[in-house]
Amino acid sequence: MENKITFPKTGTDRKKVLSKLEENRAGDSKWHEGRTFSLVYHESDEHTEFLKKAYTTYFHENGLNPGAFPSIRKYEAEVVSMAAHLLGGGEKAAGSMTSGGSESVMMAVKAHRDWAFSTKGIREPEMIFAVTAHPAFDKAAHYFGVKPVKVPVDSNQRMELSAVKAALTPNTILIVGSAPQYPHGVMDPILDLASLAKANGIGMHVDACVGGFMLPFLRKLGRDIPPFDFTVEGVTSISADLHKYGFTAKGASVILFRDKELRRFQFFISKDWPGGLFASPSVTGTRPAGSIAAAWATLNALGEEGYLELYSRLMKTVDAYRSGIEAIGFKMVGNPVGTLFAYTSNDVNMHVIADLMAAKGWFLDRQMNPDSIHLTITPANEPALSQYLADLKGAYDTARAHPELAGEGMAAMYGMVAKIPDPTMVNQFLYQYMDQRYET
Ligand SMILES: *Cc1c(COP(=O)(O)O)cnc(C)c1O
Repeated sequence: MENKITFPKTGTDRKKVLSKLEENRAGDSKWHEGRTFSLVYHESDEHTEFLKKAYTTYFHENGLNPGAFPSIRKYEAEVVSMAAHLLGGGEKAAGSMTSGGSESVMMAVKAHRDWAFSTKGIREPEMIFAVTAHPAFDKAAHYFGVKPVKVPVDSNQRMELSAVKAALTPNTILIVGSAPQYPHGVMDPILDLASLAKANGIGMHVDACVGGFMLPFLRKLGRDIPPFDFTVEGVTSISADLHKYGFTAKGASVILFRDKELRRFQFFISKDWPGGLFASPSVTGTRPAGSIAAAWATLNALGEEGYLELYSRLMKTVDAYRSGIEAIGFKMVGNPVGTLFAYTSNDVNMHVIADLMAAKGWFLDRQMNPDSIHLTITPANEPALSQYLADLKGAYDTARAHPELAGEGMAAMYGMVAKIPDPTMVNQFLYQYMDQRYET
């Protein structure tokens, strides 16, 4: 039976409950020791304490109704404005904050869908994105009744331009490019995609969820970052997550549009409710004000100089991870531009490597097509560098000496999944996994 835990009849002392939380937490991944990549974006203990203070200052307030909390309205408007400035938005750029990248993506898809219906009468909208685009686009397509048209990537994991051209139909409302995409940290050809979109009178969304608060600073630090923001003609919307490389508290992202007219299609209003006039910018109703306040606080506390300093330090760590990993015998997948990348090898089974690393207490993302290990580096991973490289070297040598390990552990499962001819079986497996997630 799934629900073995019944509703507690009597309460437990709050102190005891809190210590239980600490106890339970001890079994989780050790992000603070730099053993988790992605998921937690920890800048420093000092900054995390600052975030907690900012968040809890607005712990109980609600971002739903700016009338009641004008200070929250001001923070959101200012965060959006600062983000638009950072990402090349002109006077007309507009946007809103959301709970995260997925919601920002959903809002971009919804706005373009409603725009295309309103201005062109398109009733069966389609959008084009690469197989490497974040699943949030598939999700948004599914939720909002837009047909997902997925195109392949080239050998460097960049969206194939010719495939995009071939996929265009009169129903295409939107092309999506990533800056960079998550699996390999590689940039799609944004300039080409945007001019294609412009020539066809359709939308162009740049998914800068992971890159929006990183790439502008890397460029200022002298790294070669191709144009990807509103300075590129044809780009109509951009998603950028504050709670990733903006190093703010979780539950914060921005969705930006080239102008207010396009943003209008994001909003939802209802005038007939007995509960009063209702107007909501995005998917959520009640919105935690803490994440909005913490975002505003972070942008103001760091400023451009603070981010430049942070990224100048962080990129040294990234470069050290990359060169150390390559020195062992692995190679990068494609040409990653920033703090996230994937590495692979023709000499060893990457899932065996991941198994061996997991046994050493590293929480790593495994990837397929090509088999690789993904790393999203944050300052928390800085102190773990030499241990990581030592363990990786050990794993590499073991995997080379013992090819039979491919038949064991998770490697065996991944090997099996890769060979399953019937994709519905994989779907079954994933649904089962979701059900299990809620077993007590
Ligand atoms: C993380 C991410 C998303 C989704 O963001 P969430 O905050 O996890 O909802 C979308 N696109 C890219 C490229 C991402 O890295």
